[in-house]
Amino acid sequence: MGMDVYGLNPTTTAPAQPNHNDFDSEDWKAYYAGQSLSGQYFRNNVWWWRPLWDYVANTCSEVITEEDFDAGHYNSGHVIGKEQCEYIADRLARELLNGGAEEYKKEYEKILSELPLVECHCCKGDGKGAHYSEGKDTCHVCKGSGEVENSGKHYPFDVDNVREFHSFVKNCGGFEIC
Ligand SMILES: [Zn+2]
Repeated sequence: MGMDVYGLNPTTTAPAQPNHNDFDSEDWKAYYAGQSLSGQYFRNNVWWWRPLWDYVANTCSEVITEEDFDAGHYNSGHVIGKEQCEYIADRLARELLNGGAEEYKKEYEKILSELPLVECHCCKGDGKGAHYSEGKDTCHVCKGSGEVENSGKHYPFDVDNVREFHSFVKNCGGFEIC
């Protein structure tokens, strides 16, 4: 699952689509990179999108309303307008230059590293075999500890992802989150 973010009025031309189906190839990677650079299309899977959108809303709270923020976390076709995008692009450019994005990443990763373990969803914390390992001494998910990693750790944040999104926003002329 992921978020497809479409530019509404891109100011630049999209690169040509490769004419073969080897989607892991360099041409296709270059094609997708070119799509976001040109403001046509940006994609993050849901784990990457959530922290990125949180960050954008956080740094651009003057133009991202509560409603934009909430709707932006769903594939609801929510639209962010051209003027909002101009503000976001300026703001992200500044954050990328002045080290703000890097600083945010450090803070964010510190918070993730301090997230407590949570009760194992499989054995409900007693560490004994359950479901797939029913009847065994040790739960196959937590290896008997009764605790697992906090799911918050599955949501990464990276400055390069901000950089790519910045290029997209700068050239998209408004976007739609689907
Ligand atoms: Zn367990």
